[in-house]
Amino acid sequence: MDNRIYLCLAHMSGNEMKYIQEAFDTNWVVPLGPNVNEFEKDLEEFAGEGKHVVALSAGTAAIHLSLVLLGVKSGDEVLCQSFTFAASANPITYLGATPVFVDSEEHTWNMDPNLLEEAIKDRIAKTGRKPKAIMLVYLYGMPAYIDEVMEVAKRYEIPVVEDSAEAFGSRYKGRMVGTFGRFGIMSFNGNKMITTSGGGALICPDEETKKRAMFYATQAREPMPYYLHKDIGYNYRMSNICAGIGRGQMTIAHDHVAHHRHTKDLYQEAFAQVDGICLHVAPEDYMEPNYWLNTITVDAKKTGRDYEQLRLHLESLNIESRPLWKPMHTQPVFKDAPAYVNGVSERLFAKGLCLPSGPYVTDEDIARIVKALC
Ligand SMILES: *Cc1c(COP(=O)(O)O)cnc(C)c1O
Repeated sequence: MDNRIYLCLAHMSGNEMKYIQEAFDTNWVVPLGPNVNEFEKDLEEFAGEGKHVVALSAGTAAIHLSLVLLGVKSGDEVLCQSFTFAASANPITYLGATPVFVDSEEHTWNMDPNLLEEAIKDRIAKTGRKPKAIMLVYLYGMPAYIDEVMEVAKRYEIPVVEDSAEAFGSRYKGRMVGTFGRFGIMSFNGNKMITTSGGGALICPDEETKKRAMFYATQAREPMPYYLHKDIGYNYRMSNICAGIGRGQMTIAHDHVAHHRHTKDLYQEAFAQVDGICLHVAPEDYMEPNYWLNTITVDAKKTGRDYEQLRLHLESLNIESRPLWKPMHTQPVFKDAPAYVNGVSERLFAKGLCLPSGPYVTDEDIARIVKALC
C-alpha cells in the first residue's frame, strides 16, 4: 500500500522548540507571557492595516468574543453564511441569539450579497428589528465578494465579522482578508494554514477594542487587588507554550501559503484536461486565495462516478479527501433557524470534494491523486 496522503497535516519549521524551551527556561508556563506578546506582534505585522490582534485559545473563542464585543444578547438575530463549518454559527447560540442563515453565490461559494440584503429586509419586516451582526466566511480560503457585502452592511449599519479562519494569508484587492470587517478571525487548529496545536486570534480595529477583548478573555476581572466582576467573562487566552509554537510557525507562514498555491497550480494544470472535474479557483483576479484546501466539483454523468464514489476510491488508495461542508440550514441542530436559501450550497454539497493540499503534499502525491481521479 502506498503511503497515506492527508488533506493538511501540521508542519513545523524547526524553530518552535526554541521558543518553547525559552518558556520553560524562564518558567513562563502559563497563559499570557512573552511568547504571546511576540506572537501577537507577528500576527499584527502579517495582517497589516494597523490592526490589533489578540491571541486566544481557539478560533471559535475568537468568534464568540467578537459577538460579545458587538453586544449580541439573548433574543438577537445574527446573519450567518450557511455554507460553513459549524464553528461559525455555534457561538451565536452561546449568547442565546438566533443564527439566520444566508446562502452563497456560485462564484466564490461565499455569502450572496443580494440574498443578504433580501434577508435583512425580511428580518426587519418580520421582527421589527435589525440583525445584530453579519458572519461572513471565506470557505477554503476563497475571499467573498467583500466590497458588495460591505456595501449592504454599511447601508443597513450592521457590523461584519469576517470568519477568516480558513483564509489566513488570502488577499482581496491586495489586502489581507480579516481586515475589512469590524472583526476578523484566525484559527491555528492542527489542520489550518499554521498551527499552535490549537488556538486562534481575534483581529481588532484598535488598541481599545483589543483591551476589551483581553478583558473578556481573562474572566472579565476588574482592575482591583481583589477579584471584582461586573461582567460575565471567559477563560480564552492562549498559553505561552502554544504561542511559542505560533512564533515558530510564523517564520514559515508565507512558505505555507506559497505551497498551498503551488498545489493549486498543479491541480489546475492536470484537471484542465479532465471532463467532469472542475477545480474551484478564484473567479476574479483581485481575489488571491490561500487555497487552504483545493476543492473540486464532480459531474457524475461525465466521470461515471459521483463525488462519494470518488471519495471511496481515493480512500481505497490511501488518499484522504472529504465532502464539502454540509450547509448549516440543512443541519438537524439548526432546523428551527430562519434561512434564506437559493440552492447553491446544497448543490455544491452534493457534488464537491476537498483534496490534499498541505505542506506535506508533494508534486508526486498530486500526480498520484490526479491519476486516481481520472
Ligand atoms: C476552523 C474553523 C473555525 C474554528 O476554529 P478553531 O480554532 O478550530 O476553533 C471557525 N470557522 C471556520 C470556517 C473554520 O474552518
